Parts: sequence; C-alpha cells; structure tokens
Amino acid sequence: MNKKILIIGANGQIGTVLTTALQAAFGKSQIIPSDIKGALEKGVLPLDVLDATQLAKIIDEHQINEIYHLAAVLSAKGEQNPKQAWNININGLFNVLEVAKEKGIRKIFFPSTIAVFGAHIPLQNTPQHIYLAPSTVYGISKVAGELWSEYYCNKYGMDIRSVRYPGVIGYQSLPGGGTTDYAVDIYHKAIAGELFECFLSENTTLPMIYMDDVIRGTIELMNAPEEKIKIRSSYNLAGVSFSPKEIYNAICKEIPDFKIEYKPDFRQAIADSWPQSIDDSMARDDWGWKPQYDLDSMTKDMLLHLRKNTQEN
Ligand code: NAD
Repeated sequence: MNKKILIIGANGQIGTVLTTALQAAFGKSQIIPSDIKGALEKGVLPLDVLDATQLAKIIDEHQINEIYHLAAVLSAKGEQNPKQAWNININGLFNVLEVAKEKGIRKIFFPSTIAVFGAHIPLQNTPQHIYLAPSTVYGISKVAGELWSEYYCNKYGMDIRSVRYPGVIGYQSLPGGGTTDYAVDIYHKAIAGELFECFLSENTTLPMIYMDDVIRGTIELMNAPEEKIKIRSSYNLAGVSFSPKEIYNAICKEIPDFKIEYKPDFRQAIADSWPQSIDDSMARDDWGWKPQYDLDSMTKDMLLHLRKNTQEN
C-alpha cells in the first residue's frame, strides 16, 4: 500500500523540516502538510486539529493512511496560557486518535518530550521507566498523551509510535516557545555579531538534539518493523547534553569575539526541573537509534548553514 501521510502542525520548527524530508522519501504527492496557520499557496492545508469534522474531511479527501501529529503548545508558551495548552495538546490528540480509529488508520506518530520528567528522579542518565511528575502543563499533557497513545494501541490495535524529543536545534526553522529555544537563538546572534542574552544560567545542562538526528530518528522509528516497537508510551531519545556555557565555548572556537550575558527568567525554573541527560538504551536496542551529532559537529554545521542563508538573503 502506498503511504499517504497527513502532517498536522507542519508549519512548526520540526514540521517544516519533516515535511520536506518525508516528501523526499515518499514523493511530494504522498505528503499532505496541514497547520492552523495553513498557507494554501505553499501547499499547507488549513486545519485546526480541534475541528474533528474538518480533520475527518481531509482524511477522506486525501485517502490518508498515516498521520504525524505534531501540533502542540510547548513548555514556555504553555505556562502563559495553561488551559489553552491543555485543550490543544489533549483534545487535539483525542481528535486524531478518535478520527483515525473511525477511519481505520493504525499508524500515527505522536512526539513526546523530556518535559514529562519531574521531581524525585535521577537527573543524570534519566531511565526510560521512571516516576513521571512534570511541573508544567506541557509536561502533564504529554504524559497524558503518552498514556492515551498506549491505551489506543492496547485496546484498539493501533500502531502509535512516539519518542521523547530533547530540545531541538536546527538552522532550517525557528523554535515555537520552548525552554530550550535559547540554543537556536544563540547561533543566530553569533552570526549577526550581536551580544546574546541567555534566559538560562550558565551551568544549566539540558538534553538537546540536532535537527538532522531528529528527522532521521523519527523516520527510522516509523519505518521500523512493528514487532520491534516494544514501548508504546514513548521512547527516551538522546542527542547531546550541554549547558549555555558549553555551547558558548563551542561557538567561540569558530567566532572568538562572540559575547554572552546570563539573565535567567521564568524558564530557569522549568529547566531546573528537567533531566540533564537521558538514557536512551531501549531506543538503541529496539530499533537501532544512534545520534550522529555532538556539540562541535552540530556547531560547525549550524554556523555553516546560517552563514550560507545570510549570504543568500
Ligand atoms: P512548534 O510550536 O514550532 O510548531 C507547532 C505547530 O503546530 C505550529 O506550526 C502551530 O501553528 C501548529 N498548531 C498549533 N495549534 C494548532 C491547532 N490547533 N491545529 C493545528 N495546528 C496547530 O513546535 P515544534 O517544535 O515543531 O514541535 C512539534 C512537536 O514536537 C510538538 O508536539 C512538540 O511537543 C514536540 N517537541 C518539540 C521539541 C522541540 O524542541 N522543538 C521538543 C520536544 C517535543
């Protein structure tokens, strides 16, 4: 059966890059990107995931047989409007699960996050199976989403796959309101020759991942044989862990006169509640996950592409 994939939230930081990668892998006509900020002229269908009727209509019209459900309100934005974040993150997911079940679509990708972890856990090499007590509405909604995904797999025989992404860093798109956004912004400021004001303190180590690894890992997870997928809540996924001071030092190897100031804001408390590194051995064992980028190779690649973009514009 030919894949016909609906992407929900395709205009976001990950969605824009994933759309292009899926189009390259399966053919442009097989991929239907959608977003609440849809832009028909760019081939992105307008779809509010809270509108189940419209979702069902698009699935019928395009004969969709697989869904990547990316639309969500992220950690920092979620704290500014917790009820809206809960509504979009939970009722949006419910619409996807219910409409998919009705239409006989089994295969869904639903990303979770390192924000599902909370207090009372080891912050280093945080294990896959551990008590989840997140302190943000974003984390709470993703824990619930993981459990509902597992429930739909067990109860209705669906094939929902998920990873807990660390903070995502890429040159292709801008982040949409997470606590790890500083690690994208810092490269843009370095290229522009501007002082960087960091909203986290210098030694706040967090798990991060380069966009190339995100996209490759996501597609590898979705292409893995079904029997290899043993975790139906969400797999821990690790890329590279570092602090603002360490990323700053890595950039200074390439741009020695770059300057940084630390001005922690409300996002510091969110970051302090998150792990510093993640044990992703189950993803490695079950479906062969392996990140390719470390801090230095990611920094070189980010700066190379951002410089190229600046020259072209
Ligand atoms: P983003 O905020 O950049 O993009 C989300 C997209 O969803 C936006 O284009 C937005 O317009 C769209 N959207 C919002 N409400 C919608 C609605 N009601 N209907 C349809 N579309 C709607 O987020 P992202 O960084 O691309 O993240 C994608 C997914 O990956 C999310 O589920 C997020 O929780 C997860 N994730 C991201 C990161 C990260 O660092 N970026 C880390 C962990 C998990």
